[in-house]
Amino acid sequence: MSITEPQDHQDLRAAVSALGAKYGRAYFTQVVNEGRHTDELWSEAGKLGYLGVSLPEEYGGGGGGIAELSIVLEELGAAGCPLLMLIVTPAITGTVIARFGTESQKREWLPGLADGSRKMAFGITEPDAGSNSHRITTTARRDGDDWILTGRKVFVSGVDIADATLIVSRTEDARTGRLKPCLFIVPRDTPGFQRTMIPMELFGPEKQFELVLDEVRLPADALVGDEDAGLFQLFAGLNPERIMTAAMALGIGRLAMGVSVEYARTRQVWKGGPIGVHQAIAHPLAQAHVELELARLMMQKAAALYDSGDDAAAGEAANMAKYAAAEAAVKAVDQSVHTLGGNGLTKEFGLAQLITASRVARIAPVSREMILNYISHQTLGLPKSY
Ligand SMILES: Cc1cc2nc3c(=O)[nH]c(=O)nc-3n(C[C@H](O)[C@H](O)[C@H](O)COP(=O)(O)OP(=O)(O)OC[C@H]3O[C@@H](n4cnc5c(N)ncnc54)[C@H](O)[C@@H]3O)c2cc1C
Repeated sequence: MSITEPQDHQDLRAAVSALGAKYGRAYFTQVVNEGRHTDELWSEAGKLGYLGVSLPEEYGGGGGGIAELSIVLEELGAAGCPLLMLIVTPAITGTVIARFGTESQKREWLPGLADGSRKMAFGITEPDAGSNSHRITTTARRDGDDWILTGRKVFVSGVDIADATLIVSRTEDARTGRLKPCLFIVPRDTPGFQRTMIPMELFGPEKQFELVLDEVRLPADALVGDEDAGLFQLFAGLNPERIMTAAMALGIGRLAMGVSVEYARTRQVWKGGPIGVHQAIAHPLAQAHVELELARLMMQKAAALYDSGDDAAAGEAANMAKYAAAEAAVKAVDQSVHTLGGNGLTKEFGLAQLITASRVARIAPVSREMILNYISHQTLGLPKSY
């Protein structure tokens, strides 16, 4: 891994940034206000190869890795269009299918995920498990060649617009104890697969859903990978999820900083110059910029480790990157709102809606505290309290 970004990554960054600028925050805002989805941007990004940049070339992808996909999400976010489904569809479900799916699952799903014509959601969180994934109770039992899934999920994004959801469950014979997950592709209209939208205080086109799986019957080939593979297969998808959440946070942080720095440069209320001449305004913005840059370095390290196949080292780095980027984004947005004074809360400048957007990165897919727990135990060797 090079500390400076290689030329092909710089070129990708510039090209995606140009696509983002073509749509911009005005497009995103209009789509959300009209209750639509970012279909035009999604499909153009698919045609240009950006959605599938990390998927294998033989299935219509670009043959790159999470490093490239994280550039796509960061740049679209910085341009005002943070596409949450990029985390769920190519990064989690695309990666898991590409690494562990059967040949027919790869042929069925990857070309569509790559060109943007199909989407897949991802459901792991449960109402009674939350941060403790080992407590999930969604259960798969065999019935002849079929599988029957029963359980509940919560906060699952984009189920309404996804052709299917990749559901994390456990098999009946591993119903308690440490999670031995197995993953199933559940098409949206499968009988017994019910969804209810959760009203959220978020400004984005993707909705979150509570799911009920009531005796959902699936064919044998709905199972992705090996039912005995354990956590390894799941983390093949969760590490990219963390890296991509870092990318989304960085994009949102940069979006806010673009507005606030320009405001600090031009807003004048005293004789001596714009408000940006005051260090009480300039220094926190400078600090926020430094912290976003540092977080990107960690994200690039995590992506490089993941793409090199070092899943173990990528785990620690992905957690650190998600933590650092979320904290940097929350701070950048907070300082940006403050820099604009009353305008920080107007719809015209659109910063207040980034407060909840940046907080998502602190909570999901794994909370700040659970990352600090992971670092305390895994990295520092401190004892566990739970
Ligand atoms: C916008 C959004 C989109 C989402 N999309 C998806 C999706 O597509 N698919 C999906 O499966 N899930 C999704 N989630 C769910 C998300 O991953 C969970 O919200 C997250 O994992 C936290 O779980 P929880 O909400 O149950 O919080 P809880 O586990 O109830 O935690 C509540 C609080 O307690 C703290 N806490 C818990 N345990 C500990 C501990 N041991 N030590 C210290 N503190 C602790 C947490 O840090 C948190 O602050 C989404 C969530 C949001 C907000």
